[in-house]
Amino acid sequence: MQHNGLLHHLIQSLCCLPGVGPKSAQRMAFYLLQRDRNGAEQLARTLLDAAEKIGHCRICRTLSEDEVCGICASQARDHSVLCVVENPSDVWVVDQAGFFKGIFFVLNGRLSPLDGIGPEELGIEILEKRLAAGEIQEIVLATNSTVEGEATAHFIGELSRKHGVRATRIAHGVPMGGELEFIDSGTLSHAFNGRKEF
Ligand code: ZN
Repeated sequence: MQHNGLLHHLIQSLCCLPGVGPKSAQRMAFYLLQRDRNGAEQLARTLLDAAEKIGHCRICRTLSEDEVCGICASQARDHSVLCVVENPSDVWVVDQAGFFKGIFFVLNGRLSPLDGIGPEELGIEILEKRLAAGEIQEIVLATNSTVEGEATAHFIGELSRKHGVRATRIAHGVPMGGELEFIDSGTLSHAFNGRKEF
């Protein structure tokens, strides 16, 4: 088989997807070309459209087709509670769960000085302006429970306090239905430290 032809190029391009190795990419390419040409064309058009038209909301920095996303524009949301997350996919997950009625701020990363990611790259300036504006009463720190995620939460927590805004951190610990004997010691220690009155 030609190793510089279109088919090879398609397989290589599919490998850019997370969790897709050469074998899976091969399967996808053959499937699309042999069994679903219409699906392939539709996929290509949608991808191109999405890549061209989806940008970032200028208020919360999540992915959005419009200058201001639906959540930021909604009057039905509580604009006094702001949840800070690392990625646009986190907004999606929290919003779909349906319990959070506030608004979001997306860092599009986390503090990582070794990789050259500082406050500037995370849009902290935009966040600070919002904290200073006075509408936000509480900031919910929902960054991931990793070393960088914790450091980022700590940094933004300090910033909130500086502006007199209450900062809370989501609890990390024992998952629903989880059994203690299967939980690693780091998670268990988090769960103990985050215990509350019962
Ligand atoms: Zn927004």
